[in-house]
This record gives sequence, C-alpha cells and structure tokens, in this order.
Amino acid sequence: MMYNYTVPIKIGMQPLKSNIVRLIKMYEDKTLICKDCGEEFVFTAGEQEFYAEKGFENEPQRCKACRQARKSNRNRADRPKFTAVCSKCGGEAVVSFEPTPGRDVLCDACFKASKEG
Ligand SMILES: [Zn+2]
Ligand SMILES: [Zn+2]
Repeated sequence: MMYNYTVPIKIGMQPLKSNIVRLIKMYEDKTLICKDCGEEFVFTAGEQEFYAEKGFENEPQRCKACRQARKSNRNRADRPKFTAVCSKCGGEAVVSFEPTPGRDVLCDACFKASKEG
C-alpha cells in the first residue's frame, strides 16, 4: 500500500532568529582592499577565525604581498650596516656584512665597475 505524503517543507520560509545566526555564525571569505597597492585581497574565513581567536579587532589593511614587503623592508632596515674602506678607490664603502680583515671591500661604484668588467 502506498502513502502519499505531502511533505510540509517550505524552503526559506523560516528566517533564523538573529541570536541563533550569531551562535552558528561561520566565517566567510571577505574581500578587502589593500591600503598600499589598492588591490583586492581575500581575508579568508580561516584568517578571520585566527584574528578572532587572537582578539585582533582590526581587519588586515594590506594584502599578503604588501605585508611581506613591509616585513622584509623592516628586516632590511634592521640589518646593521658596516663602513669600510674601499680597497680600490680608498673611499667609503657601506656594506651589510661585517668586513673580513684581509678581504677586499669595494664601494658601490667600484663593485659595479668590477662587475661590468
Ligand atoms: Zn597590496
Ligand atoms: Zn671604491
């Protein structure tokens, strides 16, 4: 024997109560505009969750590339600079590594000249 049910489901007829929505809120990927380059970038659900966990209130201002660029810029600025005497012209040579005694240190101009042959 067959029963003919009319299933009383009306999709989309019951809006969820806002507190329930908040309770089960899932993060969604969000598109933000990078402050530096003006490009759109995705603030992913995972990142939003991470931010929320860390208690960060601000959304990221920059895309990944710009964030990385800023990071490496900072690192570069932090790196100590050494001043040595250019072994070719006797001028001042600023290098990012500690000059090894006995090793030739060239200033920018001489270094370029030596490279060009
Ligand atoms: Zn950017
Ligand atoms: Zn030189």
